[in-house]
Formats: sequence, C-alpha cells, structure tokens
Amino acid sequence: APPATRNLETVGLTKSFGGVHAVRDATVTFRHGKINALIGPNGSGKTTFFNCVTGMIKPDAGTVTFRGEDITRRAPHKIAQAGIGRSFQLCRIFPRMTVLENMLAAVRRTRRRELLKGARNAEEIDKARALLVRVGIDHLENIEARNLSYGQQKLLELAGVLMGDPDTIMLDEPAGGVNPALVGRIGTLVQELNAEGRTFLVVEHNMEMVMSLSHHVIVFDRGGPIAEGSPAVVQSDPRVLEAYLGV
Ligand code: ADP
Repeated sequence: APPATRNLETVGLTKSFGGVHAVRDATVTFRHGKINALIGPNGSGKTTFFNCVTGMIKPDAGTVTFRGEDITRRAPHKIAQAGIGRSFQLCRIFPRMTVLENMLAAVRRTRRRELLKGARNAEEIDKARALLVRVGIDHLENIEARNLSYGQQKLLELAGVLMGDPDTIMLDEPAGGVNPALVGRIGTLVQELNAEGRTFLVVEHNMEMVMSLSHHVIVFDRGGPIAEGSPAVVQSDPRVLEAYLGV
C-alpha cells in the first residue's frame, strides 16, 4: 500500500520541445487528501508537467506514480481509470450539446443521436442531474452549452469530471477568465469536495484563490520545483519572490 500521505508523485520528470527544456528533472510529491496547488511564472513548465502526468504528452524521462502505482506513459483514459480526473485550461465541452447531454458524454463517447434516442441509462441521468444541482447549473440542463457563460462552462466541466468519480482531480486554471462570483463558488466546491476526501491538484494564476484554498503549494520555475510548503511558508520564501519578480 502507498504511504497514506502520498498521492501523485513524479521522479526526475523531463520533457523538452526541440531545445526548450519545458520540464526538467522534476521530482514532486502531492499530498493525499489535500488541496495541492502548482504555481509559477509563465513558461515555468506547469502545463507541460500536467500534460505529462495525465498522459496527454509522453515525458522524455522520469516516472509518474499514483497511489503507489506506476502510470508513466499510460494513455489518458487509463490514467483516468486509475482515478485521476482532469479539467482543461480551455474548457472541453461540446458547444452544441445541451448541458445534460454534455454530462452524459463525459462518461462515455456517445454520439449526440444516441444520447437523444433513449440509449440513456436512467441511473446516469439521475447522477448527472444530482451533480448539476451540486454545481448550481441544474436550471440550465436543456440549454446548449455554447449559451452558458464561461464560468458556467467551467462548472459544467467540473461536474463532468465528477461523473467519473475520480479520487483525485486536476484542475487547470479553474478561475481563469471566470467572473469573481463564480470564482467564489468554484473555490467553495473544491473545499467541499476535498472535505469528502478528494485530493486536488490545481494549477492557478489567481494568487488570492491559491493562497486561501490550498494546503500545500509547489512553486515551479524553469521546469521544476524551487520551493514548497504551506501558503504562508511559500509566500515568504525569497526564491519564490525572485522567480516571480526576477529580483
Ligand atoms: P506554463 O504552463 O508554466 O506557462 P508551459 O509548460 O506552457 O509553462 O511551457 C514551458 C516552456 O515550454 C515554455 O518555454 C513554452 O514555450 C515551451 N513549450 C510548451 N509547450 C510547447 C510545445 N508544444 N512546443 C514547443 N515549446 C513548448
């Protein structure tokens, strides 16, 4: 069994694009059962790291372990099956499907026609509706997703991730481009879901959100971690100030 405190771990994770070392020798441990944040200046490798971990791109070197299981270079759907759900920086939803159809599409690759013509699983629909209530967009279930505000689309995406019952949820910039009222709701949801035992790994630029929400913060600069700890510790770390301010 994996140590109780460990969730996702990387050792020596490395990925270059041509001559650009996007992620270099990154050894990181995320805390199980906690809200972990990954922060760092633009271009520090956060997205590439995220993509290597979720199987969207293959690392050049290093290992990724989830709850003690080696998941390095596994296909994205296999990593999802292992219990890691993820959202995307730019929402991945189907604009011309309704909110409810998007929820059903999140669990299996189904054509719109099939979703509409009664190939529906009643249990799945109940679950989808309950999750829409939970994120506060159940009144929009028959609206096409393209007519939702960007923040509502983010809530739909999070609800879609929850359809897979992931033990661990990776969020890429959940507050990016979202109005302040919905940022608050997303933050509250993350805290509630965490209180129920789900681990979060969040990449986020909104420092206020990161610092108020996270238990453990990992700071990237130039492709790897330069500091980690509680928000208070990280905020007062001179290396972090240097990375952000270039002083
Ligand atoms: P962050 O998410 O912290 O802003 P990224 O992982 O997006 O950082 O980028 C890290 C570095 O890798 C940057 O210099 C970026 O330009 C480069 N990079 C990222 N993806 C690619 C790619 N597909 N091709 C070439 N360079 C890339």
